[in-house]
Amino acid sequence: MPPPHIIVVGGVAAGPAAAAEAARADPEARVTLYEQGPTISYGACEIPYYVAGALESAESLVAFTPERFRKERGVSACIEHRVEEIDPERNHLFVRNLRSDESHRVRYDKLVIATGAKPRVPRIAGVDAENVFPIRRLDEAEALRNYLDRHPVRHAVVIGGGYIGVEMAEALVERGVRATILEPQGGLLNRYLSPSMRRRFEEVVLARGVIIRDESAEGLDVGTDGRVRAVHTDRGEKIGCQAVLICIGVVPDTALPLAAGARLGSSGALAVDDSMRTNLPAIWACGDVVEVRRVIDDRMVHLPLSPVAFRTARVAGRNAARRGRGRPQRFGGVCDASAVRVFGCEVGVAGLREVDAFDAGIDCTSVEITHTSRSSRYPGSSPITVRLVGERGSGRLLGVEIVGSDGAALRTNVLVPLLHAGARVKDLLELDLVYNPPIAPPRDPLLIAASALAKKIDAPISRGGARGR
Ligand SMILES: Cc1cc2nc3c(=O)[nH]c(=O)nc-3n(C[C@H](O)[C@H](O)[C@H](O)COP(=O)(O)OP(=O)(O)OC[C@H]3O[C@@H](n4cnc5c(N)ncnc54)[C@H](O)[C@@H]3O)c2cc1C
Repeated sequence: MPPPHIIVVGGVAAGPAAAAEAARADPEARVTLYEQGPTISYGACEIPYYVAGALESAESLVAFTPERFRKERGVSACIEHRVEEIDPERNHLFVRNLRSDESHRVRYDKLVIATGAKPRVPRIAGVDAENVFPIRRLDEAEALRNYLDRHPVRHAVVIGGGYIGVEMAEALVERGVRATILEPQGGLLNRYLSPSMRRRFEEVVLARGVIIRDESAEGLDVGTDGRVRAVHTDRGEKIGCQAVLICIGVVPDTALPLAAGARLGSSGALAVDDSMRTNLPAIWACGDVVEVRRVIDDRMVHLPLSPVAFRTARVAGRNAARRGRGRPQRFGGVCDASAVRVFGCEVGVAGLREVDAFDAGIDCTSVEITHTSRSSRYPGSSPITVRLVGERGSGRLLGVEIVGSDGAALRTNVLVPLLHAGARVKDLLELDLVYNPPIAPPRDPLLIAASALAKKIDAPISRGGARGR
């Protein structure tokens, strides 16, 4: 039998990881990757730091050029090639070379879809103006940085206060640009943090001069030079600015597999089983285009984050390369962990907030404590606030939110294996977390929170307090 041809569509994080894994798993296979953009294998997560100027060049974000990818990973990567159609009955792809504008048909034996996600763009007049920047791809980041280098931008409006919005606001401030964030849906990081934790984070952002407005953009005022000069909001306000950044999240880019008959899941992303197989024969998928199982409540979620992209890609690539030998690899699900650091304030979250737990029908309670990051007598100690959520009855740990500095966010990683294992609050209390005066206090903030939560979970429910708010 001739060696199989494995094709991967999409070349940022999940695609190259799946392609490299497939080539490793079956060294005889011919592995081809198609990417419609000009670059493969770059760190999208580093874009804010590139725009801020902390990373010198766009090239420094690129892990592999196509040449190096072929030499070191055995994968032939074709940039500026768009896969326009999949024919799953005949195992054919129709690929357009965007440079020559020619289209050709290619046969695959196995196909991995890693088409990722597209930025949400508000449907308002003026979004196509020269100084409006969606923040997703490396070429868009380069366009923004070049614009900031060449034009006198004094004030920019960031539409959206999620983690990319706040990272971009920080990047602007570091470049000496005043930033206003428009976030109408309940404050910064509202998908991640409970209101009390959010306020702590917002205090730090406000202290650095960023303006946070509880308004949405309704229109952009474009001048005769084709550039936006003001944003109109739903409250009838007009905010003058010289640039607009769009950071209102992403949607999975499912058009290609959908047209071929692939099924979407309840979250709107592509449905796959735990071996990352789609419902179409010989087609796997991974990264921001798929939905994954959240282990805590078994809900299928769309979680467009880098570690999920790499983990699902390894499973998809390995299974696509299987030639019937051994068992397929399984993806073990996610616990919805993420972190961000802005103006020195770190945020780490994992699992469910109370609001998510109630939504999932889980009866829960929570505590919020503030303690020191190091021994209180050691210089440089700073406050860390931990909010811990547990299930009533079982005492199972459900989630954590941490805000502070000095190692606050990394503490989230202590909770990740516990949440995956379905551990109880008491299991956290049993852990001998490290103590060293310059690193951590004798009783870590996590243990103080766990102790308070264990007491609250064991306490009889008081009248009117059944939900432990
Ligand atoms: C500014 C920013 C900061 C981030 N920070 C973090 C962070 O701190 N931590 C974290 O965990 N995650 C972060 N992320 C998210 C992380 O970058 C994504 O989860 C990751 O890039 C997903 O990789 P992917 O390969 O699945 O999808 P994508 O990165 O979307 O790549 C998909 C690629 O497929 C290509 N493609 C689509 N359709 C076709 C087609 N038909 N033919 C050929 N090519 C096609 C697209 O051009 C695209 O290049 C950040 C993202 C951004 C934008």
